[in-house]
Amino acid sequence: MLMENDSTINGYTELVGLMANPIRHSNSPAMQNEAFRMAGINCIQLAFEVDQTNLKDAVQAIRTLGMRGSNVSMPNKTVVGQYLDNLSSEAQLIGSVNTIVNDNGVLTGYCTDGIGYMAALKDQGIDVRGKKITVVGAGGAATAIQIQAALDGVGEIAIFNMKDQFYVAGQETVQKIREHTSCKAAIYDLANHEALRREISESFLLANATGLGMKPYEGITWLPDIGYLRPDLIVTDTVYAPSMTKLLEMAREAGCRYMNGIGMMLFQGAAAFKLWTGQEMDVEYMKRWIGAKLNRQ
Ligand code: NAD
Repeated sequence: MLMENDSTINGYTELVGLMANPIRHSNSPAMQNEAFRMAGINCIQLAFEVDQTNLKDAVQAIRTLGMRGSNVSMPNKTVVGQYLDNLSSEAQLIGSVNTIVNDNGVLTGYCTDGIGYMAALKDQGIDVRGKKITVVGAGGAATAIQIQAALDGVGEIAIFNMKDQFYVAGQETVQKIREHTSCKAAIYDLANHEALRREISESFLLANATGLGMKPYEGITWLPDIGYLRPDLIVTDTVYAPSMTKLLEMAREAGCRYMNGIGMMLFQGAAAFKLWTGQEMDVEYMKRWIGAKLNRQ
């Protein structure tokens, strides 16, 4: 990277983007910019309203302007790959890109969402390798978590989803996991409570990767009742606002260890930061900084 280091933006400042729409609400630019500042790296992240109408041009602008790269979010994650030169193995398998790195005009796409989730578990001392987990959801976050978990050595994954348009994606994820990893995988209808109870009872960890628990579904969970939980089950949520979802409240009441989605958000950002800068983000500092920021929101 270009390095002319003081805290002001100057002629050497490098730029990474965040391309999505809507995007103004995102915590990512504030987080990345604070991390760049803390590390003394002369780089900034700016958010750009990008969707199907201007994605191709926006990606070309990364090359034209010599940007260091970009984050990508909805609705671009699953379609941006066609405009890039290379995809990492996890981005290829997940079928989604959330981070682009520009190396002298060559653009490579990565998916750090699942990496972030797995790193958040590791950060809490939770080792899921060789274990069985149940993940509810088959959308973007769920797919990233399920595929990354399988790549990272989880033994077995039970996927549950309602019979909506995402169910087919869940079936495809099962196929990919079976073909490309040694992890066992199966998908069930979320309405099948008998299967849900059985799979949770056999699991080391239960994850929510649906939007239930956050607006407009605050105070709601797909878990039928607290009897599905037991104290030695770990329960995680991708939602982090609110910090305690209905599912996590039930987990706390049942005596489970639980984790919300802040860690996933932080560590997916830390992985992108490392891809752009080659440096580790100071995650202990950033945990405190994000905690304080979310408390103010
Ligand atoms: P998505 O739109 O791709 O997927 C939505 C999922 O929710 C699907 O599986 C869908 O079937 C399920 N769903 C929708 N309505 C439901 C209902 N009434 N009952 C049961 N399931 C229902 O969304 P996504 O991008 O995968 O995001 C899912 C959640 O994960 C969101 O809350 C998002 O904020 C969160 N997320 C967190 C992080 C993080 O870093 N912590 C990253 C990505 C996403």
